[in-house]
Amino acid sequence: MTALHDPLGDRVAERVATQAVRQAQAALGLLRPSSPSTSRPLISVRGEPPPRVVLGFGLGCDSSAVLARWLTDPSSRDFELHELAVITGMTGQEWPATRRLVEKHLLPLMAATEVRYLQVARRGPRQADGVDILSDTRSPDRLHLVGAWTLAHEMFDGGTVPQTTGDRLCSQHFKAWPLDTVIAELTQGQPYRHVMGYERGESRRAERDAQYNTTLRTGEYPLRAWGWDRAAAQAFLRETFGVDEWVKSACTYCPFALANKAGRVETVARFVDEPGAGVLALVMELAATALNPTQGLIKGQRLLSLLRVSPGTTAVIAAFEQRLASLPWAVYDVRRTLSPRSDGKANHARSVRILDVGPHGEMRARLDQRARCAGVSVTVGDPAFPDDSHPRVWLRRREPQLLADGTPTAEQFLTLAPATALSKTGPAFPAAWAAASQLHLTV
Ligand code: SF4
Repeated sequence: MTALHDPLGDRVAERVATQAVRQAQAALGLLRPSSPSTSRPLISVRGEPPPRVVLGFGLGCDSSAVLARWLTDPSSRDFELHELAVITGMTGQEWPATRRLVEKHLLPLMAATEVRYLQVARRGPRQADGVDILSDTRSPDRLHLVGAWTLAHEMFDGGTVPQTTGDRLCSQHFKAWPLDTVIAELTQGQPYRHVMGYERGESRRAERDAQYNTTLRTGEYPLRAWGWDRAAAQAFLRETFGVDEWVKSACTYCPFALANKAGRVETVARFVDEPGAGVLALVMELAATALNPTQGLIKGQRLLSLLRVSPGTTAVIAAFEQRLASLPWAVYDVRRTLSPRSDGKANHARSVRILDVGPHGEMRARLDQRARCAGVSVTVGDPAFPDDSHPRVWLRRREPQLLADGTPTAEQFLTLAPATALSKTGPAFPAAWAAASQLHLTV
């Protein structure tokens, strides 16, 4: 290990840091060709006459019930099947059980009735990167769950998890935007009925969706028209396909699925059944909470802690630990600013920089060395988060009183994490850091 004279000095070259991140992301299965071999350009969807009816098929129970009924009971619809297009926006990491259900029961029915099915995904982090048409066929035989750019890739790049505050931005980026983009192209400026699988109890969602109606688009909700709730949809799928339960569709790391006790019980049971599906969620949470202890997948708790105390989870935890051991690690320098807002809240801005990359043991030694150089101890965990156990070297602490008085404040620490997040400085950070530092120096 090289000698250090500055706790932030002797930083690894950005190119080497980025290589380590790409190596870690590849080990997690995140790196894809920029366009999968099956994908087609957006314009290709204009190859057929525009559909009159477009069903948003989320792969879960409700939209599956709508589709299954339309395909098996012609009296349930007032259009011909050749006028229908079914479309799914792929986030990238769907539960394997959902894939099995859809591929076994619905795709054969769609192929037999020659229903047009489009599977679409984002092609990159920016809208300018466009949309991939992963599949557009009347004889679907498999789900194309993973596109060139997935939600997990975006989360790992940014060292975060999907956020439960606000308007489900993850869903908007990875489902709503690609779907809207493709539907606009598909319908070619003609009026269409946009069908959503909202069930009887989802009045608010339906009302909200109806606000997006235009002169061309009309939202429709057949389950509500039929008076079907979730139980009725499940019962129909059970009768039609002989399945015990049509499992919920979600990303394997969805924090909304962990938001209440019933959801946590269900999700843990899914990890017990499919241990491999839990690894990505656990690594994502570990990497995100190292950089920010608030970023657990469960509010106030960690998914890892929940799994550690849940029966039957040995295999998922073992797979997680095995994967961690195979990844390159990094020492990160994390700086965060908090700038007061007029509504009493604070704007946060962040800068994350990789200082060192290498195997876990070496990186832990390097963190210790940087701590010694700074003349501070390595602390483990965060008192505000009882199950946080990340080592950190605090170089600067935020000052809540400053913030309460309407003055910007900032914090800085070094920490250790799998090398899955890129070095990144938010656009608002430099000015916010300068403001907080200026005041810090004069206080
Ligand atoms: S399933 Fe959860 S994590 Fe995935 S896009 Fe939807 S809300 Fe976000």
